[in-house]
Amino acid sequence: MELIDSHCHLYLPDYAGDIGEVMERAASAGVGRFYLPAIDRENEARLFDLERRYPGVCFAMQGLHPCSVKEDFREELKRVEASLAARPFAAVGEIGLDFYWDRSFEIQQYQAFHQQIEWALHYSLPIVIHSRQSMEQSIGVVREHQHGKLTGIFHCFNEDEKSAREIIDLGFYLGIGGTVTYKNSRLPEVLKHVPLENIVLETDAPYLPPVPFRGKRNESSYIGFVASKIAEIKGVSLETVASVTTANALKIFAL
Ligand SMILES: [Zn+2]
Repeated sequence: MELIDSHCHLYLPDYAGDIGEVMERAASAGVGRFYLPAIDRENEARLFDLERRYPGVCFAMQGLHPCSVKEDFREELKRVEASLAARPFAAVGEIGLDFYWDRSFEIQQYQAFHQQIEWALHYSLPIVIHSRQSMEQSIGVVREHQHGKLTGIFHCFNEDEKSAREIIDLGFYLGIGGTVTYKNSRLPEVLKHVPLENIVLETDAPYLPPVPFRGKRNESSYIGFVASKIAEIKGVSLETVASVTTANALKIFAL
C-alpha cells in the first residue's frame, strides 16, 4: 500500500531537529512520495535542500503563497519566473487567494494568482491552490483560465458540496487533510457526494494535524488517519483509498 502526501511543508524549521526520523516514520506508514509546496523567498533554500536530500521521494513546487504577497511581490514573482524557467517542478504552488489573514494586498493577490496560472499553462504544470475565505473568487479565477488545459488541486478543501461540484467540473481535485477527522467537520457529509477519483490526500504538515494529534505538530506519517476516515465515509477499504488517491496524485503532478 503506497500513500502520497500531496502537500507538506517538511522543510520548515519545525523539523530541523528530527527530519530523518520524520521521514522514516512516514516511510513506515507507507508514504512513498512527498510534494513540497513553495511559500516565498525566505523558505526556498530549505525546500530545495530537502528535495536534494531525498531525491525521487521529495518533489518541489514553485510559487508565491498568497499570504506572502506583500509590497515586494513583483520581485518575488521575478524569482518565481526565473526558477520555473531554470528547472522542472512538480507544480506551480501554492498560489491563490487568502482573504482571512489580511485583505490589504487583495489586488496584488489577484495579480499574482493570474500571472502564476499563466506560467503554469506555459510550462504545462498543474497548480496547487490555497484558498481561504475566497472560494468563490478562486474558482472564478481558475474558470477564466480553464480552456481545457489547466488542472490541479484545491488544497485543504473544507467547503460545501456546491464548491466541490464546481471544482470537479473544472477538472480539478480536492486535497483532503486532517480537518476531515475533526468532530464538527462538514466534510464527511460533503465527501459522500465526491468520487474518490477527485480526491488526493495531504497533511499540510506541520499544520492541521488529524485527530488524535490536534494541537501537536503534524507530520506525514499521520496521513493514514486521513485515509482511514475517507475509507469510512466512502464505505471502501483503506487499500482502495490508497491506490485511487495515489494514482490521482501521480496523474496530476508533473514529477
Ligand atoms: Zn501549504
